[in-house]
Amino acid sequence: MGARKRDACARPAAGNPMTPLIKILSTDFDGTLHSEHEDPPVPVHLQKLIARLQARGVKWVINTGRDLSALMEGIARAELSILPDYVVVVEREIYRHHESRFIADEDWNGRCTKEHATLFASIRADLPGLIDWVEKRFIATVYSDPYSPFCLIAGHNHDADAILAHLETYSQGVPNLTVVRNDVYARFSHRAYNKGTALAEISRQLDVGPEHILAAGDHFNDLPMLSREHAHRLVAPANAVPAVKEVVRKLGGFVSDLPWGHGVARGLESLLAGESD
Ligand SMILES: [Mg+2]
Repeated sequence: MGARKRDACARPAAGNPMTPLIKILSTDFDGTLHSEHEDPPVPVHLQKLIARLQARGVKWVINTGRDLSALMEGIARAELSILPDYVVVVEREIYRHHESRFIADEDWNGRCTKEHATLFASIRADLPGLIDWVEKRFIATVYSDPYSPFCLIAGHNHDADAILAHLETYSQGVPNLTVVRNDVYARFSHRAYNKGTALAEISRQLDVGPEHILAAGDHFNDLPMLSREHAHRLVAPANAVPAVKEVVRKLGGFVSDLPWGHGVARGLESLLAGESD
């Protein structure tokens, strides 16, 4: 990866309360942009707000744990009036919207697939023991899919807490291995590929620094992008888990008292009101 060039002219002067223009908007999908509890699942108000940002050149990234087909289905069912410029799926693969298609970033995705294959080959012999450990203690589903040889659906969040503690202890002994969690779902993954590093790659390609990036998320798998390394403007809706709210508050971001897309819209409005050129 090349060095990131910064847009130094857009930095606010010291003491200037104004914030730099947003050039990239990275939103998680489920629970942040989209809610199954709502009709429409993505508030019309938020769709209009994002459309206005896209019209002025802001690139919108949906950064999700869903795979590409599940995300496309979610977008279609939600009858969105807007489409993202980029999607990051399974918290790692990058696709760029071009005409009616989402085109894979072959370099990034190819490297990502290869490095995951090497990593997963190195833990293959340990998997039966890990699966056995989970099955003896919990009612949980463990399975493999094309993205990970160890995927978990725990029965409850407190079961997920206990299982994750065990998996994290194991992963500390394996270079590059991490556990990605979203609610009761978890999977093994490569430490170098997550929502944060994928967002960094998109921003590198667009030559945009983190001071111009806004990231919004609600769960553990969003934490890698909710970091000043990747985005200086952070938003969490009211339904975000406490760990996410804590990080967003600590980094001076916006924690809304409204849930899902309503909270994101509120956060966007608040931050855009303070923008400078
Ligand atoms: Mg989410």
